[in-house]
Amino acid sequence: MDSEQVRRVEMFFFPFVGGGHQIPMIDTARVFASHGAKSTIIATPTNVLQFQNSILRDQHSGRSISIHSLPLPDDAVSPDIDMSATPFTDTSVLREPLRLFLLEHRPDCIVFDGFHRWAADLFDGLQIRRIVFTGNGCFSRCVTENIRRYVPHERVGSDYEPFVVPGVPDRIELTRSQLPPFAREKSGVFDKMFKTEEKSFGIVINSFCELEPAYVEYFRNQMGKKAWVIGPVSLCNGNVADKAERGKQASIDDQTCLSWLADKEPGSVLYISFGSLARLSPQQLLEIAHGLEASKHPFIWVVGKIFSKSRGEGEGGGEENWLPSGFEERIRESNRGLIIRGWAPQLLILEHAAVGGFMTHCGWNSTLEGVSCGVPMITWPVSAEQFYNEKLITDVLGVGVRVGSLEWMSFNVEKAALVGREKVEEAVKRLMGGGEAVVEMRLRAGELAEKAKRAVEQGGSSFKDADDLIVELVKVRL
Ligand code: UDP
Repeated sequence: MDSEQVRRVEMFFFPFVGGGHQIPMIDTARVFASHGAKSTIIATPTNVLQFQNSILRDQHSGRSISIHSLPLPDDAVSPDIDMSATPFTDTSVLREPLRLFLLEHRPDCIVFDGFHRWAADLFDGLQIRRIVFTGNGCFSRCVTENIRRYVPHERVGSDYEPFVVPGVPDRIELTRSQLPPFAREKSGVFDKMFKTEEKSFGIVINSFCELEPAYVEYFRNQMGKKAWVIGPVSLCNGNVADKAERGKQASIDDQTCLSWLADKEPGSVLYISFGSLARLSPQQLLEIAHGLEASKHPFIWVVGKIFSKSRGEGEGGGEENWLPSGFEERIRESNRGLIIRGWAPQLLILEHAAVGGFMTHCGWNSTLEGVSCGVPMITWPVSAEQFYNEKLITDVLGVGVRVGSLEWMSFNVEKAALVGREKVEEAVKRLMGGGEAVVEMRLRAGELAEKAKRAVEQGGSSFKDADDLIVELVKVRL
């Protein structure tokens, strides 16, 4: 492509205000800058602090990427307080500052998160070409669509009786108990979100074709979506600083973390994280602790947000009585476990040779990051579309074992322990124990990681899709 034309392509990125959606969108802006586009990230002043260092590093390396911090009215409550924004957070306070900014700029497109439910109307009013970023992969989008279309869950007798998702390329079984409320009953919020895709220029997907080829095809050809599949975008984090600071300042120094891992046998450590949003009850954490201890395998356990009756919701609160008596002392003395309270440098940990398993809530980013690092998973879906992602990991890709999570729960509603210590112990022993089935799983995970890396390299499918979008933007502009 003519470099003059590429240079003229200007892309704005308007991420949502929470971790699991903001993080990949920042990476996406960086990916397009690395392809020669001029990327501008539009965010709130507090959010900017979470990623500005990596953008500065990109600028120093010659990339055309910048940040526009939206000035908020003095009396406005910022919608991004401490990453606690949820899909239902109302971000409309950003509408007016964004409108004023856009009145003075005419990018070739704006890539925006569908969770800003008011934004499509604004862009259409200003006649700015818009592209949707949903944060999901194609598999879960196809499953979501066919459950909406065929309502198979209405034909089973109970919440725990399995049904088959009609029409999708593989036999996928789910139960009603695993469906999000917006799939069980039609929800206006999500209907509106999916509707914004209809009149958009297209959809940018953080996935790669080789991971879910039949579903990329189904999404494009059966569901009629114009999609550029450009991931895994996390792979744009090439240096240690980018990985260590991604999303938020980590609660552990990366050197402490890396030197703890350096002592361990290759593939011996289980990494446990439930993402940026999920809150677990103290009883559930206690069950995890007992299960981990009984399994006798080394682990890094990220304890993020927990429910706390006495102090409200907190992050990894140290005083809470959610660990078995003497647990921390025992794991410290035996050097068998590391607990990170708060935020972990997930990419640095997952790519370390000592890590051989990932117990995950199956958030789409974590799923892709596990895949990109070739780490097989213990699947423990909680919320959102995570039960669908579990099916992809276990039944389609064959790179994970289920812990046995049966019930969807909202990230902000406390439930007592839903998965007992025996199930935790059993799943950990199965994945980390090295049986024949797991050896094969590891081989498959390694192959997928290679494919992920190839996809984003020159000549790879994601690399080509990112280039294609830039070319299309040049064409429509000319
Ligand atoms: N993450 C991280 N450290 C943490 C927790 C999460 O770096 O301690 C990152 C993780 O790497 C991923 C994102 O936060 O990129 C979480 O996104 P995901 O889709 O997995 O889950 P969500 O937070 O949206 O539930």
